[in-house]
Amino acid sequence: MTSAYPVDPQPEASVRTVHLLQRRTSRHGKDLGKTTGWVHRATLKARGVTMLGGVRYDRIDDDGLHVSLGRDHGEQRVLPVDHVVICAGQESVSGLYEELQAAGVAAHLIGGAEQAREVDAKRAIEQGVRVAAAL
Ligand SMILES: Cc1cc2nc3c(=O)[nH]c(=O)nc-3n(C[C@H](O)[C@H](O)[C@H](O)COP(=O)(O)OP(=O)(O)OC[C@H]3O[C@@H](n4cnc5c(N)ncnc54)[C@H](O)[C@@H]3O)c2cc1C
Repeated sequence: MTSAYPVDPQPEASVRTVHLLQRRTSRHGKDLGKTTGWVHRATLKARGVTMLGGVRYDRIDDDGLHVSLGRDHGEQRVLPVDHVVICAGQESVSGLYEELQAAGVAAHLIGGAEQAREVDAKRAIEQGVRVAAAL
């Protein structure tokens, strides 16, 4: 008798060539949840996504995206891409808080308004809960 498990994964072939680039030299998705991050990375790998770190973005022209890689960015490469999706992070907007403070209204600055950089919803929710509990 043959068992149904384990079975080899059979990833769908990707219709596109996808490169996932980051300026950081650390592993992609390093800060993702411990129990889920590896699944995302495994899925991307199975779909043939190229993951490059320590990238310097030089320019985009008709040949594609020009990047520099490696130590001191000594290796130049052109990725012949036709779409570039930029995920450039977020900036805090705290104007309302400042206006309220100036008007003498008690206000708390939390979540993305306080620190948008690498904020996650969990931290924002925790801050909200703590402020609410202290009121
Ligand atoms: C593309 C993207 C993907 C993300 N994915 C994830 C993810 O997978 N997991 C994760 O944990 N986090 C993720 N985040 C981050 C997460 O969305 C934020 O950390 C979280 O929403 C911050 O919560 P917040 O309540 O501080 O701000 P927000 O959720 O931005 O809420 C602020 C609210 O205030 C309102 N507002 C602003 N100005 C005023 C004003 N003057 N008067 C009245 N209302 C106003 C806005 O309309 C908005 O509803 C992602 C963020 C982005 C942009």
